[in-house]
Amino acid sequence: MDDCIFCKIIRREVPAEIVYETDELLAFKDISPLAPTHVLVVPKSHFASLDDLPADNVDLAGKLLLGIRDTAAKLGISGGYKVVTNCGEAAGQVVGHLHFHLLAGKKFTP
Ligand code: AMP
Ligand code: ZN
Repeated sequence: MDDCIFCKIIRREVPAEIVYETDELLAFKDISPLAPTHVLVVPKSHFASLDDLPADNVDLAGKLLLGIRDTAAKLGISGGYKVVTNCGEAAGQVVGHLHFHLLAGKKFTP
């Protein structure tokens, strides 16, 4: 996707503070953090949202979930973390590239 901001970060056309990377995913710091640790974990392939992740791509779905866990481990997060994906405008999704917010370092309400 030519004009997708996260695809541009993945292609290194836009700078970001990358904290973890595999062949299939990238994790980088959110530009407007809502917690002391606020990282976005994204697949390198463009999918608009969780709804657009192909149902038969169980491998990527699993790698994303485990990649979030491995990002938290790499960051040395202790004391727990929260994982959120906003799916669709009504849920507050602004960037149309599937991403998971990894949040830590403060007390969250459920
Ligand atoms: P969402 O509302 O779930 O779509 O979240 C999009 C997130 O992307 C927000 O938390 C933004 O702060 C973050 N964001 C937007 N542009 C950038 C960027 N260039 N680098 C890092 N984070 C970004
Ligand atoms: Zn994209």
